[in-house]
Amino acid sequence: MAFKPANNIQDLQYFGEFGGVNPSISDSSTYTFLSAKTMFDTFEGNADGCYLYSRHSSPSNLYLGEALAAMEGTETANVSASGMGAITPVILQLCGSDDHIVSSRTIYGGTYAFLKNFVPRFNIETSFVDITNLKMVEAAITQNTKVLYCESVSNPLLEVADIKGLSEIAKKHHLKLVVDNTFSPLSISPAILGADVVIHSLTKFINGSSDTVGGVVCGTQEFINDLRNINCGASMLLGSTMDSLRASSVLKNLRTLHIRMQQHSKNGLYLAKRFETDGLKTVYPGLKSHPSHNLFKSMMNEKYGYGGMLTIDVGTLEKANELMELMQNKNLGYLAVSLGFYKTLFSAPGSSTSSEIPEDEQHAMGLSDGLIRFSIGLDDDIERTYLIMKQCMITVGVLEPTHLITD
Ligand SMILES: *Cc1c(COP(=O)(O)O)cnc(C)c1O
Repeated sequence: MAFKPANNIQDLQYFGEFGGVNPSISDSSTYTFLSAKTMFDTFEGNADGCYLYSRHSSPSNLYLGEALAAMEGTETANVSASGMGAITPVILQLCGSDDHIVSSRTIYGGTYAFLKNFVPRFNIETSFVDITNLKMVEAAITQNTKVLYCESVSNPLLEVADIKGLSEIAKKHHLKLVVDNTFSPLSISPAILGADVVIHSLTKFINGSSDTVGGVVCGTQEFINDLRNINCGASMLLGSTMDSLRASSVLKNLRTLHIRMQQHSKNGLYLAKRFETDGLKTVYPGLKSHPSHNLFKSMMNEKYGYGGMLTIDVGTLEKANELMELMQNKNLGYLAVSLGFYKTLFSAPGSSTSSEIPEDEQHAMGLSDGLIRFSIGLDDDIERTYLIMKQCMITVGVLEPTHLITD
């Protein structure tokens, strides 16, 4: 039977303590034991199903983790207080002094800063490569390489990683392939394509209401146990634990993710096609002009589409700022970082979310000043949105007035 990530969430069955249709929230940091022996066994990791202390695990966090593991098709998962709170322990669990990482050069700014500026303190070095060039990826691997790191769809350039190809390279060189799937939940299932570890910032599409930060690591039981190990687990010891109340609210939002992703994708594809036809430099994986359109297509769970992220290049930062301010004034969305909200969000990555990346490196990877990143919202009437956006583009001089459609 085909892998159906949304069904896998739906098929979970958790009851609340009193038969509630939502699982009970465990509002406790610590747990009683009926016998001292069980407490000892739990510390030793030998008492399955017993909770010890909520930094280690809690029922609410396990419910959310199991739902996300079902979505990604992994054995289990561990939720965390933020996406960075998922990424950093994974790197530190897999790498120690003198180890090496091969990473895509187009990744989330915070991840880039962590790999570039922070882990060298522990003698962990990273080579940043063009992830779409498998030959270059393999050539960057050294005897000390432990991790191959990428995003399925990269931030902000929307490059697409060939996860099957990368997984073959990882297996050949005994590396762990770690994939951040934040931009393409449901659409792409990295673990099914061969990734060892799948990470999400739950802050974005998965929670979808821009009211919290959160993260998750999906992987094998063995790896998640390692992360949670009370003696040497990076998640346990660094302590970026999600709160139980939050875990329960993210779980509720997760249930509508498949409906939201279809709408984000539908609106994204509509706008991308219209923008491209208007002559704007548009990047969207669903466009045939996208260099990895066919690759995305070959990996995707078709129903959920090409996602809600697109970029246009309007030439200069000044024009980008002018356009974004006008679009906000016209209530087409918000000038804000982040993604996955019901409203469209737009920002200029070069001066915001990717500002951790030095300017010369931004240019080398094709991140230009006039780039605007859109997270397309759930707009019910996307044609109306498009027509108002187009009027804004004409007003600021990004499009010629001749393009104006009067109706
Ligand atoms: C936002 C984001 C992160 C970081 O997540 P936080 O929840 O903000 O810590 C990591 N990766 C990608 C691709 C992101 O968009």
